Amino acid sequence: MIAPEEFLEDTRDQGLKELEEFLRIPSISSQPDRADDVRRAAGHLADRYERIGLQNAEVIETAGHPVVYADWLKAPGKPTVLLYGHYDVQPVDPLELWTSPPFEPRREDGVLFGRGSSDDKGQIALHWQAIQAWLRTTGELPLNVKVIAEGEEEIGSPNFEEFVRTNRDRLKSDYCVISDTAMVAKGFPAITYALRGLLYFELRVEAANTDLHSGNLGGIAPNPAQALAAEILTSLKDPAGHILVPGFYDGVKPLSEEERQQFARVPFDESAIKQTYGLTALHGEAGFTPTERNWARPTLDVNGVWGGYQGPGAKTIIPAWAAAKFSCRLVPDQDPKAVAQALPRYIEEVRPKEVRVSLSKLSGHGDPWITPVDHPLIQAGQRALHRVYGKDPALIRGGGSIGAVEVMGRLLDAPCLLVGFVLPDSFAHAPNERLDLESFYLGRKAALHLWEEIAAIGAPAAARPASVQP
Ligand SMILES: [Zn+2]
Repeated sequence: MIAPEEFLEDTRDQGLKELEEFLRIPSISSQPDRADDVRRAAGHLADRYERIGLQNAEVIETAGHPVVYADWLKAPGKPTVLLYGHYDVQPVDPLELWTSPPFEPRREDGVLFGRGSSDDKGQIALHWQAIQAWLRTTGELPLNVKVIAEGEEEIGSPNFEEFVRTNRDRLKSDYCVISDTAMVAKGFPAITYALRGLLYFELRVEAANTDLHSGNLGGIAPNPAQALAAEILTSLKDPAGHILVPGFYDGVKPLSEEERQQFARVPFDESAIKQTYGLTALHGEAGFTPTERNWARPTLDVNGVWGGYQGPGAKTIIPAWAAAKFSCRLVPDQDPKAVAQALPRYIEEVRPKEVRVSLSKLSGHGDPWITPVDHPLIQAGQRALHRVYGKDPALIRGGGSIGAVEVMGRLLDAPCLLVGFVLPDSFAHAPNERLDLESFYLGRKAALHLWEEIAAIGAPAAARPASVQP
């Protein structure tokens, strides 16, 4: 009998061919005329899961594109892990910028080109190949696995929360593993252990029932645009980037020394960012590095301001109303509900009394999410990656949100491990998306060890982070 590692070595080419088959299905979730292809990709994946020896493979309907499910639950006493990926892909426009057709995978110099090769079909494939290596060689997995692949991640997972709610019992697991992120650099893997949440608001400021003549009523009538721009919005944040809403920072935990050190291991090229985006300088709170501000500090940003006359030439009015959209990125242990209540209270306080304001919360999604950095699940991930890459992975956070992570963490009450095996410059969502093959093969190996390392920490009762032990 050969070892699972050896099986992976022997099946490199076969594994790549299977991925290429999967990549040929144009499962673009946002385009209605591709709905049949999305469904075909789901069926293809369910078949694959069955063929590698997973059980109960099923295409589960939702109100939108289906979710693929399969499991292997024959390791009594061992933990159960829910593995998440998504089989839908982004549109391919502009097509003329692709050097070869996006759904005809092409290999060149150790790179596989094709839509979905990194995001996320390549990562789904490396996991199924690691699972297959276990099942084909030892006949079993080191723990219980439930695999799901979503078909609507690229359109914001509109039906995922409902899906998890409806299938809560079937999905119940001790841990979640998600491979839809990237490494720091080639050979330098990363574990993401926290993400920011999002609150989004629209603010409307009104005074008169019509636009007014700025001569006839100038000096008499209140001006909502002026009130919005010069009095309300400027009260939200000081020029140094500190948010002035009372209670806004409640619950924000200071970064530990170890977290700061971990962040500092990740290269941050300020001049490259400035050059890429045409910035003359970066901006943000004093006392934090750019990475710390981006990953671990909350923000408030105005997303748009409008109102008054915006056509050509002059129009001498005092506008009847003005409006703005603004949003906050929230960090772990901030309470989104408390922030959502503090904001209207504060705006009511700072508004000039001769204008009326109304603040509505738009469907922001995503509470902040974190798995404590000293959680055994994170440590199991670190060990698995160390075995393959010969170095400690970076422990990082993300500045944005991943809807599925927050939903699974909240509804399944299970800690999540986010580990990705693709390069940061994979051109995900862009023309010429690619997969670095060396990283793909290493990822298969790391995925193999991951199950072993998670099995070793046992179920959560035994695996509690040091930070929450009495
Ligand atoms: Zn993705």
